[in-house]
Amino acid sequence: MPLLTAQSISKSYPSATEVPLNILTDVSLSLAAGENVAIMGPSGSGKSTLLSILGTLERPTSGQITIADVNPLELPEPELAAFRSQKIGFVFQDHHLLPQCTVLENVLVPFLAGGRAGQEEVAQAKHLLERVGLADRTLHRPAQLSGGERQRAALARALVRSPQLLLADEPTGNLDSANADAIVELLLELQQETKAVLVVVTHNAHLARKLQKQLTLDHQNLKATD
Ligand code: ADP
Ligand code: MG
Repeated sequence: MPLLTAQSISKSYPSATEVPLNILTDVSLSLAAGENVAIMGPSGSGKSTLLSILGTLERPTSGQITIADVNPLELPEPELAAFRSQKIGFVFQDHHLLPQCTVLENVLVPFLAGGRAGQEEVAQAKHLLERVGLADRTLHRPAQLSGGERQRAALARALVRSPQLLLADEPTGNLDSANADAIVELLLELQQETKAVLVVVTHNAHLARKLQKQLTLDHQNLKATD
């Protein structure tokens, strides 16, 4: 039983000419709990667009997605936002941490969508910060962390609500190779523990090979990587 399915996803944007810009055409994908996949492809091939659609941040022009048996495209916006914050964890190339908040506060941010963060939530955030090696940095501000540490904090934030779907868009794009390796290893470790579905967009073929499957966006469609 797949946890994530995308069926015949197409995405086009209006363009300055009469012909719309087709970014994705008939993309299908199906992943079960515990599976992970790397998506590669040149800049501009639609990787971030596909990830945004899988993450319900953007709507496809046509096609369907299901996440944990729910069709998120049918949910009204407030319910969709709640669904997204509960079921989906995002990691971006830029950590997107709030500069004025401590590391611990940043990791608690996903709980704020659902109201407030009580003792249990704080304990979960601290547990994850320990897990990513930041137990002694919980009161640091993002500017006081190294690039690799910032991305570890972003991982903890993405995982704090135990999402069933983890989406990472070039999560190691700003890191040196040792830190990039460590982040991918950690991401895979946490994903295997939680049995989430993990989709990682990366330019890095060496990192992509650490995942179970490698796909490439080519001519608006997903193909097995050569
Ligand atoms: P990638 O992540 O593979 O580099 P993107 O998904 O960001 O590629 O973008 C794919 C193409 O879609 C690009 O050519 C870009 O210009 C176009 N595009 C992305 N977002 C928009 C948008 N909001 N409006 C119009 N065109 C867009
Ligand atoms: Mg991109």
